[in-house]
Amino acid sequence: MASTVDHRVNLYSLDTAGLESLLAGWGEPAFRARQIHDWLYVQRAPDFDAMRNVPKALRERLKAETRMGVLELAAEQQSADGTVKRVFRLDDGQLIESVLMEYDDERRTACISTQAGCAMGCVFCATGQMGFARNLTAGEIFEQAIYFARELAARGERLSNVVFMGMGEPFHNYDASMEAVRRLMRDLELGARHITVSTVGLVPMIRRFADEGLQVKLAISLHAATDEERGALLPVNRRYPLRELIGACHEYVHKTGRRISFEWTLIEGQNDTPEQAHALGKLLRGLNCHVNAIPLNPTPGFGGGPSASKRADAFRQVLEGYGISMTVRVRRGIDINAGCGQLKSEVQKRERKALEDTLPEQAGDQFNGDLGGAVAGVENRVDLDDIE
Ligand code: SF4
Repeated sequence: MASTVDHRVNLYSLDTAGLESLLAGWGEPAFRARQIHDWLYVQRAPDFDAMRNVPKALRERLKAETRMGVLELAAEQQSADGTVKRVFRLDDGQLIESVLMEYDDERRTACISTQAGCAMGCVFCATGQMGFARNLTAGEIFEQAIYFARELAARGERLSNVVFMGMGEPFHNYDASMEAVRRLMRDLELGARHITVSTVGLVPMIRRFADEGLQVKLAISLHAATDEERGALLPVNRRYPLRELIGACHEYVHKTGRRISFEWTLIEGQNDTPEQAHALGKLLRGLNCHVNAIPLNPTPGFGGGPSASKRADAFRQVLEGYGISMTVRVRRGIDINAGCGQLKSEVQKRERKALEDTLPEQAGDQFNGDLGGAVAGVENRVDLDDIE
């Protein structure tokens, strides 16, 4: 656990101008900033010693006064299918999750977080069950991708895709998420089409995103095709009901000419019924879109289970009848609780327990779950009416 505040400058939090200004302030020639930028983002150097064409004295100064990132590894799990899940501790003790998925076709996809916790409260999601702590900075969001890119570079591989589908709602932290998207394109040279931003449906932000002029993919977490069913799973639906949401999706497609993906977590007996499939077909008919369905990753706080493949196939066939394509994705990392928020919950429980065990017996008796900043807390709910 982080015990002292590290005041060194985080190089990943600086954009190109910031790096140039830092080095100019040290009296270094302008080309040094370009060299160091190249080591950080093109070579993806693991540490300062790897920066061979940077003079030793400057490397020592960089080590003393700067650092390459703030993410401190708190826990890690590796799945039999190659998925790696990490929990990182931030400077203020908050925990976030990031996942790296490896595919046979050589795609290497990082799933990154935009918030510590989440205010959206989706009932089937472990992160939603734990509440909202704070927004991440653009640097903290971007750094999760560079962490994996660096690791892949060390074994001669490249990070090929980034999806904003980890903890948090990217559009509830819009500016930082967009800045992170731009840094992925500029510093990591990821193509916009290799980046996907996912939202539960914050309608004004979908409109704003349509005006960004980016080729980045948009995914909407839908999960139910009637307001009653969707409102029961995603409280945000009470703020932005389906009519408004799908209206904004039509505007987005019209304005950008881009296809939208709809995410559909298949929950046995709940949203995988023929009625829901027909309702979804009617809802999306005529919209340039694709449905990505994935059987539920069960969480302890939600009683639902994943749909059997037969039910998923029947659902897909109904949709195809409406001219809508659907892919049933393989659940990845199922043996390591790769559903968003699950590993973080375990780490928090473990650390709370360890801390309780160190408390004097009487203090332990009075303990009511609030450990102040010792295990950085979450648990604030944001009123959905306050969300734009
Ligand atoms: S599914 Fe996404 S938006 Fe919903 S609570 Fe979980 S992290 Fe937040």
